Amino acid sequence: MARALLDLGAKENVPLSELVSFRVGGPAAFTLQPKDEWVLCRALNLCRDEHIPVILLGNGTNVLPSDEGFSGLILQMSGDDAAPVFEGTKVTAGAGCSLTALAKESIQRGLMGLERLCGIPGTLGGAVAMNAGAYGGEIKSVLSRVRCYRDGTFVWEDARLDDMGYRKSPYAWPKTVVTAVELELSPDDGTAAATMADCMKKRREKQPLSLPSAGSTFKRPEGHFAGALIEGCGLKGYSIGGAQVSELHAGFLVNRGGATAGDVEALMRYVQDVVYAETGVHLEPEVKRLEELLCIF
Ligand SMILES: Cc1cc2nc3c(=O)[nH]c(=O)nc-3n(C[C@H](O)[C@H](O)[C@H](O)COP(=O)(O)OP(=O)(O)OC[C@H]3O[C@@H](n4cnc5c(N)ncnc54)[C@H](O)[C@@H]3O)c2cc1C
Repeated sequence: MARALLDLGAKENVPLSELVSFRVGGPAAFTLQPKDEWVLCRALNLCRDEHIPVILLGNGTNVLPSDEGFSGLILQMSGDDAAPVFEGTKVTAGAGCSLTALAKESIQRGLMGLERLCGIPGTLGGAVAMNAGAYGGEIKSVLSRVRCYRDGTFVWEDARLDDMGYRKSPYAWPKTVVTAVELELSPDDGTAAATMADCMKKRREKQPLSLPSAGSTFKRPEGHFAGALIEGCGLKGYSIGGAQVSELHAGFLVNRGGATAGDVEALMRYVQDVVYAETGVHLEPEVKRLEELLCIF
């Protein structure tokens, strides 16, 4: 089994802390960045036949692993698997394409639609799986078709926009593997570059970008902002071990150095408990725990 995975290009014993933006987590037994759909299909078939647990990630910017690590295969749909192809206002790109790089290139090519999403550090596939959004924009609004691997076949399908909502889509692993995406952008009306610069400036000013994190740790509760609730409870700067409620933006839990995944878990629970006790609002994690993504075929 190990030989077959290594023959496909898998690596052994890779620290999860190298794969996720929180920079925490124990070792993964195997990781593989499938270089094409054939390799992806072979790897998934192997996991099914050998009952190997498998988890699929993009750039790991919205996940929290455990300190124990993971005994199966991590598939990483990130990297330059398919450079974007522009045809008029349409752009098609592999799931592993960087969302920020794609946003910048589309603006250079006179197109708009991704300018508000620039700065989200994930992949295009991860953005579709999460329906990523920022500053009033979301990927759903430019999504036209999705290439998915389901039940043993690859298909292009029209985007199921009605099933997409706030950080929710029908395209997230383990239901689906997104391998490529088609977006329908618009001709730039002359504002895209300025909007992108403004959004990036806000990120630099308001987000703790110099410390490892997974972005906003909690979803926005109906009628509230998670960061404001956490700050209102006096938790800005509160820390457990190396995990800290950011001093800059209380909606971000950060690794201020040497955090374990357990520290982050404990801090998440503590913040949820305090906010619930003081405000009655339940904070639902936006960050996905790696165990939630575990699939055994
Ligand atoms: C500093 C910082 C700022 C951030 N700002 C924002 C923001 O403004 N808005 C926002 O929405 N998010 C933000 N995020 C969170 C994160 O970047 C997004 O959720 C992003 O879309 C996740 O993409 P990823 O490739 O890293 O996916 P991962 O974190 O690797 O995975 C996330 C989920 O998507 C699934 N997935 C990934 N790729 C695929 C695929 N090809 N097919 C099927 N399922 C897949 C995974 O299984 C997992 O369930 C931020 C994170 C950081 C660290």
